[in-house]
Amino acid sequence: MSDVMSDTVGSPSAPAAAPAREVPFFTQASSFEALWPEIARQVNKVMDRGKYSHGRQVAQLEKAIAAYTGAPYAIGVNNGTDALVLLLRAAGVEPGQEVVVPAFSFVASASSVVLARAKPVFADIDPETYSLDPEAAAAAVTPRTAAIMPVHLFWQMADMRGILEVARRHDVAVLEDSAEAIGMRWNGVHAGLLGKGGVLSFFPTKTLGALGDAGMILTGDPAVAERAAILRHHGRMGKTIDHIAGISNLSGVSGTNSKMDDIQAAVLLAKLTRLDQDIARRAELAAAYDERLRDVPGVLRTPVVAQREDETNPVFYVYLIEVEDRDALAAHLADQGIGTEIYYPTPLHLQPCFADLGHRPGDFPNAEAACARTIALPFYPDLTIDDVDRVCDVIRAFYTGRTT
Ligand SMILES: *Cc1c(COP(=O)(O)O)cnc(C)c1O
Repeated sequence: MSDVMSDTVGSPSAPAAAPAREVPFFTQASSFEALWPEIARQVNKVMDRGKYSHGRQVAQLEKAIAAYTGAPYAIGVNNGTDALVLLLRAAGVEPGQEVVVPAFSFVASASSVVLARAKPVFADIDPETYSLDPEAAAAAVTPRTAAIMPVHLFWQMADMRGILEVARRHDVAVLEDSAEAIGMRWNGVHAGLLGKGGVLSFFPTKTLGALGDAGMILTGDPAVAERAAILRHHGRMGKTIDHIAGISNLSGVSGTNSKMDDIQAAVLLAKLTRLDQDIARRAELAAAYDERLRDVPGVLRTPVVAQREDETNPVFYVYLIEVEDRDALAAHLADQGIGTEIYYPTPLHLQPCFADLGHRPGDFPNAEAACARTIALPFYPDLTIDDVDRVCDVIRAFYTGRTT
């Protein structure tokens, strides 16, 4: 494809073309502008009260997310990674125990296990869903396994029927990395609530994103909720869930400082009013991409939504395709002012931070293939159909050798 890349620039005698519009990988500038009055109203309440973290906007967001997801308990923390670490600890995963994690995910899915002083044990993914394969997870279970951690990636949940069955068979907990999965439900149960608990990340690019870091733990187990609420605040005992009522300054366990900022909670409360509308917009944009990319040579696969006997709903967080010559396409799109991301360039078992687990290339072929072939395209509610047209025109031209 390199010849295609080198002849896309016009000859010196050609009339200067209007510069092509740039399409960033992510922006929320116009959503932010539209929501500004509501954000300002919520942020002003924070300023008026003068409590900037772990305060009333955080408590209000916890209630609102509990209502949206149906979670009996929702515990706000500083980011999704902390949510995973605290969930693992609160769920009783002990130092030295093992947690089965898919080899294809964001690094935090496994580093959280290390931070909780347990050991991640990798298993391969189902190439159809990019998520943990239940039988591979079953094969990774040992007498030391405390939990299985499915990760719901991009637009759909892992095969939770299969995962829950394996967990029951082996009597281990299910803790979901549902950081990307707000709005996704399995037979009506929100992601994160099918096992002992799950998490949400409100990192800015996520489906519900703050203007900085924020995260949440979801659980139906009151003991897990209580422990998580204690751990997020230095292990302090007392009225930890109703944190407005005040807490003791005695620490029963070594916790951490993972309070959520009220300014982020304020932004999220405002954005939550538009979440369902944003999710519908994301579905429209995904369909528009699908329609334009499905028959492009070189595009090996557009998003597949697994057909299940269970009722599940896709929620598009990331729009990702599998292509030939992935790195050359990414470089070409960058040249054309189009942002892309690789989720994820390196499988977890080959990350240097997990080298002590002793894995080699070839250990998890489905995870490795996904890392080599996938590319995420610009995708957010602010994206226009014109933007989608431009991205798809450049991709088609790249593979068919035409110039744009
Ligand atoms: C974003 C993400 C996280 C971490 O969330 P942060 O808020 O960025 O710490 C964990 N797991 C997955 C799968 C994610 O996508």
